[in-house]
Amino acid sequence: MSDLAPPRLVSSLPTPETPEAVALHFTELTLQLAELLLHEMHRFATLHRMDIVHLRALLFLDRANRYSNTLGGLADYLGLTKGTVSKSVAWLEQTGYLRRTPDSQDRRLQHLWLTEPGSDVVQRLLAHLRLGDIARCMGMPETQQATRMLRQVLSTCQRLNQRRTFGICQGCRHHQRTSQGGFCGLTQEPLDDDQSQRLCREFEAPAWLD
Ligand code: SF4
Repeated sequence: MSDLAPPRLVSSLPTPETPEAVALHFTELTLQLAELLLHEMHRFATLHRMDIVHLRALLFLDRANRYSNTLGGLADYLGLTKGTVSKSVAWLEQTGYLRRTPDSQDRRLQHLWLTEPGSDVVQRLLAHLRLGDIARCMGMPETQQATRMLRQVLSTCQRLNQRRTFGICQGCRHHQRTSQGGFCGLTQEPLDDDQSQRLCREFEAPAWLD
């Protein structure tokens, strides 16, 4: 943490003054952030003798809920075909980072789970990217504000690119709180606290964001 400079106040930065300049500034910053994170992920993947798609798969499966930790869910999230993704899954399974279990109701469906070495890689990658450190350094209000903004940018990008909107279950329009805990109004199944914190491929933004 010691090499993390305190965040600069946004108001002290030069502010572009026309809609075109604002859009350009926004585009440039977003691209730089994406570039930097991608570069660091490539570096980490090379150090660990993996392909970046393996890392992306592990990152997703570490956070996916039980409706999403399947080959189809992973392919949707990565924007790749099931064929391409199944090769990566096979590699991750052979190298001991993943295991599969059949679904209790539909035996044709398989769930993908991280093994201990798989979770360990994800924890080390998150530590390497240091986004948690940055959030702690910025403080709660700024991080909450940045998170709201990023959520809006991401869901707009996903909509414009016709990609499925993966989101954290708790914020979904189908998520309900009952006296017994969480409940999914779409699947009509209970959700424990852990599942309510995970990413879901069936996520739909709350109605007030329509
Ligand atoms: S409440 Fe929404 S996000 Fe949660 S499991 Fe149901 S559909 Fe998925």
